Amino acid sequence: MSATKPWHGINRAAYDWFPAIDYDKCTGCGLCLLSCGNSVFTWSMNNNLPTVQNPGSCVLGCTTCGKVCPEDAISFPDDPKKFLAKVIKDNKIFPTVRKELQARLDKFPDHRISEGAKVVSE
Ligand code: SF4
Ligand code: SF4
Repeated sequence: MSATKPWHGINRAAYDWFPAIDYDKCTGCGLCLLSCGNSVFTWSMNNNLPTVQNPGSCVLGCTTCGKVCPEDAISFPDDPKKFLAKVIKDNKIFPTVRKELQARLDKFPDHRISEGAKVVSE
């Protein structure tokens, strides 16, 4: 298991949010593992199926792997919007979020746009 990183300053490990796989439905297509950028899944070479190996690395409120699963074999503990709304309210995360945003804009100045600047599309 990998260590859990804080989520916008809060203790990620305090929350149960991760995918559960229904192996009666899973066909082993692999889309869930390929769609997750956080290495939550590993692959069992014994039965050719995914395993939720690092649940603490799952991003709070993310449901991407569940959305891409063609068999509807992945579920989460709660409705993601309802879950996140409570996490955000309980932890008052926005002072931290503002600092993180500022740090991001300082690091990547090209992420800023000036008032009046035109968005160019082809
Ligand atoms: S995407 Fe769904 S069906 Fe495919 S391996 Fe993952 S859980 Fe199984
Ligand atoms: S919900 Fe998102 S972060 Fe969590 S395992 Fe699925 S794709 Fe990865």
